[in-house]
Amino acid sequence: MQKVLQSLLQLQEIDIKLTDVRARLAKFPQKLAQVDARVAAAKSELDASKSAQVATIKDRKKYELDVDQWKDKVRKYRDQTAQVKTNEAYHALQHEVQMAEDEVAKAEDRLLEQMVAGEEYDRRIKASEKTLKEVEDSARTERSRIESEKAAAEKELAQFTSERERDVAGISENLLDHYERIVRKHNGIALAEVRDEKCSACGMIVRPHVFQEMRRATGDELFHCETCTRILYYIEPSVSTASSAASASASPARDN
Ligand SMILES: [Zn+2]
Repeated sequence: MQKVLQSLLQLQEIDIKLTDVRARLAKFPQKLAQVDARVAAAKSELDASKSAQVATIKDRKKYELDVDQWKDKVRKYRDQTAQVKTNEAYHALQHEVQMAEDEVAKAEDRLLEQMVAGEEYDRRIKASEKTLKEVEDSARTERSRIESEKAAAEKELAQFTSERERDVAGISENLLDHYERIVRKHNGIALAEVRDEKCSACGMIVRPHVFQEMRRATGDELFHCETCTRILYYIEPSVSTASSAASASASPARDN
């Protein structure tokens, strides 16, 4: 293969690696953000359980006060019944006592409900705290895994970048410019192998005389696919097979 094609192929190989490592590096911020989001979700779950608990305690105090107030009323009405003179007033007060006692019972029921709910929130807080701790532990492990992957990728990037600088040093500015223009046009792939006399990138047939010229070329001339404009290269079938076939001078048909 022509030397110029060998250096371009080497460049393309390193460019593919660079594209890959850059794509991997670009994903790290999102990966870290996903880990942070999991921790934040577990924290807000715990916060929600805690504020529900606070609200329950507030309600409980209110219901305790209700119970006390209704009990006071019951006492007050009872005291008054001792002083009434008429049957009618007595019955009216008895009725008030009954109503106040009903209210005491209702307030006590609400209080009990709140206490049960409070226990439920206690359980929920404990569970949320446990979950948060687990999420934080796994986040720590995951973050350090991501960070070390990132460090490895950054090392690769530095290595590939300096390899590319070395490769580029041996390529003329014009040729590099030409290569890079095709790279931009074709998503990173500027060179296409000719296989079965076709451009392997777009599948277009390479005309026989172009193919023959390609195989004979020794200088810096480049051949392009007429359809996709990529630079064509051809890898001769295994040298040992070719040379043994040539030495045996067995089949000239093989070459065509
Ligand atoms: Zn093509």
